[in-house]
Amino acid sequence: MENCLFCKIMAGEIPCKKVYEDENCMAFNDISPKAPVHILLVPKVHVENVHSIRGEDEKIAKDLFSAVSKIVREQNLEKSGYRLVINSGENGGQTVFHLHIHILGGVKMGWNPV
Ligand code: 5GP
Ligand code: ZN
Repeated sequence: MENCLFCKIMAGEIPCKKVYEDENCMAFNDISPKAPVHILLVPKVHVENVHSIRGEDEKIAKDLFSAVSKIVREQNLEKSGYRLVINSGENGGQTVFHLHIHILGGVKMGWNPV
């Protein structure tokens, strides 16, 4: 989609530090990491957020979670643990309106969303 930051990153128009790619999704390091490991996992299809997934697009969720399994294994996060975050809409703190899963790890996290 035009003027979408993550579509531009996936098209190679904006550089990123790629950590994973398959036919359905891509993952790269967050430009402003909030933890020692902070990866953004993005579907190649442009969908805004979880609640805009419809019908045949439901495969996107399945594809994303199978990529999560592979990435956390590759990043050695399985044993130590990790956190998945999906921000949606204004109150959720979403700033890029192309669905993405934050994969955070490398530190013991607290629970204080505001
Ligand atoms: P959101 O706030 O929408 O959940 O997450 C958007 C994320 O994208 C933020 O954590 C932000 O740091 C990251 N981000 C913004 N611009 C860029 C960029 O140009 N490159 C990369 N790799 N990450 C970005
Ligand atoms: Zn997009």
